[in-house]
Amino acid sequence: MSFSPLFEQLIASFCCLPGVGPKSAQRMAFYLLLRHRDAGLQLAQTMIEAMTKIGQCSRCRILSEQELCHYCASTKRNDAQLLIVETPADVLAIEETQCYSGRYFVLLGHLSPITGVGPEQLGFDLLQQLLATGKVREVIMATNPTMEGEATAFYIADLIRKIPHNIAI
Ligand code: ZN
Repeated sequence: MSFSPLFEQLIASFCCLPGVGPKSAQRMAFYLLLRHRDAGLQLAQTMIEAMTKIGQCSRCRILSEQELCHYCASTKRNDAQLLIVETPADVLAIEETQCYSGRYFVLLGHLSPITGVGPEQLGFDLLQQLLATGKVREVIMATNPTMEGEATAFYIADLIRKIPHNIAI
């Protein structure tokens, strides 16, 4: 029996994070309650705001609070180049190199028939619409070098070949 049902609930909530088990969750709960209550409140508020306000960009699917993300809204980027990645973290890594100034498309995963991730979950319909506009002249595939990542890139390359106008891959 615990001294506080809410304390137990807090621990259970922390356990939803990857790599956090009951022991670390308990440590986090004690840390915030006993030493950093202000930070805990701040965390809770930010969490609610982020979870309710951050959606997806309607063009590239990256996480965004606006209809169009910062990259898609920019007029300085090259519409002719489209780089396809699996996660928003990939976009951040590429932006850090400052070597790319084209547009992005974020799959938010890769094809995985075993876990039920198919073309619909990866926004392929949106990608096809984007390619059909005729603005994209070159697609750069930057999916992960895993079996699923390769299979996803292969599937997308096949989609691109079916587009009537020429797009370099
Ligand atoms: Zn975007």
